Amino acid sequence: MENVTSPNWQMKDEQYVWHSMKPYNPNATTIIQKSAGAWVTDVDGKRYLDAMSGLWCVNVGYGRKELAKAAYDQLLENAYTPLSIGHIPAIRLSEKISELLGDDYVVFYSNSGSEANETAFKIARQYYEQKGHTNRTKFISRYRAYHGSTMGALAATGQAQRKYKYEPLAPGFIHVAPPDAYRANEDHIAEPASLPSVQAIDNVMTWEMSETIAGVILEPIITGGGVIMPHEDYLRGVKAVCEKHGALLIVDEVICGFGRTGKAFGFQHYGIQPDIVTMAKGLTSAYMPLSATAVRREIYEAFAGNEEYDFFRHVNTFGGSPAACAVALKNIEIMETEDLFTRSAEMGAILQAELQECLKDHPNVGNIRGKGLLIGIELVHDKKSKEPLDVTAVNKIISICKEQGVIIGKNGVTVAGCNNVLTLAPPLILSVAEKELIVEKLTHALHELLPKA
Ligand code: PMP
Repeated sequence: MENVTSPNWQMKDEQYVWHSMKPYNPNATTIIQKSAGAWVTDVDGKRYLDAMSGLWCVNVGYGRKELAKAAYDQLLENAYTPLSIGHIPAIRLSEKISELLGDDYVVFYSNSGSEANETAFKIARQYYEQKGHTNRTKFISRYRAYHGSTMGALAATGQAQRKYKYEPLAPGFIHVAPPDAYRANEDHIAEPASLPSVQAIDNVMTWEMSETIAGVILEPIITGGGVIMPHEDYLRGVKAVCEKHGALLIVDEVICGFGRTGKAFGFQHYGIQPDIVTMAKGLTSAYMPLSATAVRREIYEAFAGNEEYDFFRHVNTFGGSPAACAVALKNIEIMETEDLFTRSAEMGAILQAELQECLKDHPNVGNIRGKGLLIGIELVHDKKSKEPLDVTAVNKIISICKEQGVIIGKNGVTVAGCNNVLTLAPPLILSVAEKELIVEKLTHALHELLPKA
């Protein structure tokens, strides 16, 4: 007779699967079996509205048959060709990415956001080496930013608690304080060059000697560090400083890209054009592992000599695989056909405004911020001191939301190890009713924090 009892997934999971961050992440012990639209269903049949799109990535939502079909068709047409050779989906995708970036870029593929950043660092160093600037090896990044888990990307990361157990990391990374519109407000400053957060980079480049600096890496908005908003002129200021010192500007669009902030790329809010752009997550809406490092043509052309020493020696087996590129192309087509960048901008603005309205008088809500469907709610002991709310209270809110069927996230490193910013990054297809559910459940959970009358 057929055995109809299903395994105890929870037990087997605990026995065999090493989850990242576990037991730290209260969401990690849910075993998801199915998903559709903005919803995921666990093995017990409980449904959750996924207001984090997995890990900030399922931008077009779950269960998209078009993406499954794109992968299926491509796997049958041609399952694999390495990019030391060539294939059509990679050509078409590179052209499309360049078009979305709004300038002339050439694209190098890899497998994760971390690797896209590693690739950017290697390209930048070799670019300068080939131009005869052999001392230009250092990178500047910001405290509180996350750029990935590998030895270079982690070195660029500015969150000590993620790093100290794995040191020594790659050398040559220098950190400066990020802009922070809530905690270090720079609104009163008119000129980009006068922003203290821009001057910090200018000063470091001078003190370290310009000719030792290869580049600056930054996210347009720091996401994993707690949705930290810059001054509107910050990126313009940093770009000018990079030009002054001859350094490259690398923009990490791993989360901000592909509509998360309401435009194709986050930097497009701020009137600059980066030298190098890295992307992953939303590129395929996580239906396939794929990342990319796009470089301005003149950088690529520095590698275009015929001598063997001009080669870019970063080979990977799976980066830019045909099926991953085919899925990315279809994913972008869906975003364009359904106008999801605009939808993210509009729905995000409404969601943010409604949260402001419902939570503005809550004593523990210090600040609500974001762009598009990237939103952070910074929780504090009181609005005046801005002292971060302790982790037990933050976890309680997340658990209440989860019990009520809404998955939200937490981030932020105001104090090392303290995640006091609730984060929302729902799929860009979020409906009005789903948006209202997030507001309702989050407001309810936050009110559970208040002393009972
Ligand atoms: N950059 C940023 C801004 C990220 O948020 C992440 C991952 N959350 C990465 C890089 C690394 O991406 P991956 O996990 O795909 O290596």
